Amino acid sequence: MRGAPLELRSPSAPDIVFEEQSASTDDVDRSVSLASTAAKASGWAACGPRDRAQVLHRWADLVDAHLEEIATLEALLGSRPYHEATARDVRVVGMALRLFAAYAETHESAVTATPHRQLSYTRDMPYGVVAAIAPWNFPLILSAWKFAPALAAGNAVVLKPSEMTPFSILRVAELGVEAGLPEGLFNILPGDGGTGQALVRHPGVDTVSFTGSTATGALVMAEAAAHGLKPVSLELGGKGAQLVFADADNLDHVADLIVRGITYNSGQVCFAGSRLIVQAPVRDKLLARIEQRMDRLVAGPTWQEVSLPPIISPAQLARIEQIVATALSQGAKLLRGGEPLADAERRCFFQPTILQSADVDNVAYREEIFGPVLLLDTFERFEEGIAKANHPDFGLAASVYTSNLNAALAAADQLDSGTIWINHWGRAADMTSPFGGVRRSGFGKDMGRAGYQKYLKTKSVWVERADLQ
Ligand code: NDP
Repeated sequence: MRGAPLELRSPSAPDIVFEEQSASTDDVDRSVSLASTAAKASGWAACGPRDRAQVLHRWADLVDAHLEEIATLEALLGSRPYHEATARDVRVVGMALRLFAAYAETHESAVTATPHRQLSYTRDMPYGVVAAIAPWNFPLILSAWKFAPALAAGNAVVLKPSEMTPFSILRVAELGVEAGLPEGLFNILPGDGGTGQALVRHPGVDTVSFTGSTATGALVMAEAAAHGLKPVSLELGGKGAQLVFADADNLDHVADLIVRGITYNSGQVCFAGSRLIVQAPVRDKLLARIEQRMDRLVAGPTWQEVSLPPIISPAQLARIEQIVATALSQGAKLLRGGEPLADAERRCFFQPTILQSADVDNVAYREEIFGPVLLLDTFERFEEGIAKANHPDFGLAASVYTSNLNAALAAADQLDSGTIWINHWGRAADMTSPFGGVRRSGFGKDMGRAGYQKYLKTKSVWVERADLQ
């Protein structure tokens, strides 16, 4: 049975259209069964971690060698500019493969503190088949955060990319086969939400790793519970605070980071710093610097060196517009922007926008907007700043800017968020630090040792020594 037709349209040039076939339920069955057979029969799980690491290193080298081709595919359909994809996104794939190969080679299990007559040790075993579901905003990076550790740990992987951005990851998977991955071990299922749902429900899937919206994450969790009680990890949305104290060093640098935090990838970032909470005495000085920098941003297609790439789709653009209009009708003040950017070629951009509101019921405060829309609020005292920075629903990432080390460390303790940046915003390319949220931002970590460990299940082995005769 054939899957539904998919129309893929470049947000940089809506006349560039590709016709694709969504994976059918038969394709889901076939992929999971191939992966399951490969996980058992290929010897991938049973072979030494060093043998797996060799393949992953060869694969990383091939990805690096195809940097420009993969970056072109990334820029063709999504929002990632080619110049950023070559500088970062494609390189992250190689880095992830190498890092998780190293984790596999150096992974240790425990011998527990039993009496001498007994020996108890743990063995970490791969789950079998991992279903990985990735979104469109960073197709390569967010996929690599999943398939690299899952494969390094000895699993097979069936990955469903967003229906809007399947091309780059398909090429990366081909290179995996060229590097020596056993056939069937890593499968890509282009398809829509229905494909994702069928994958999560499939009895051959042992664990699910998901990145996307909070609403879909909740559905995935319910489906995984109803169909085999599979473990899930969920990397979901955020509403990141940028908490700026009046004693922050170098307001120019702070403004650079705040503008980057809300306009990088046009705000289509789960850990976007979308709420600026600034101590009253520096509000005006900081705002002026932010506006100057926003004025200099350049919108354009992903194949130009732009700082404001397209919004992924007309539907997403309409959603941003709608949230901004509702926020204003609920009393938020518009300080700049607020409109889609007109473009004769029907491309989707949104003006860098600043709204001001202290109302915790305003939609711009409650909703992850996923566009270049910054919400401004002020505070006077430390405790007030922390209270405002802690969002009632989301807790993915937050930044704090101050030159007072004690205040910075106290804020890091009191901000309820999976990641805290001090005098910084944004993930470094280094992947040793785990990433993941709390509350409606999800649970479970990507990257770091925790992002490797989650693809392993721990078995306890107990040996009883008999007395010598
Ligand atoms: P979704 O959560 O809908 O999609 C994420 C992935 O899940 C995609 O591959 C999607 O497929 C798939 N999916 C959709 N429905 C199901 C389902 N029932 N079962 C299993 N998988 C499913 O996010 P969107 O891409 O639609 O974006 C909407 C909003 O999500 C954004 O505005 C933003 O707020 C948030 N978001 C957060 C991200 C993050 O990094 N935390 C990333 C992307 C979005 P398909 O795309 O083909 O529908």
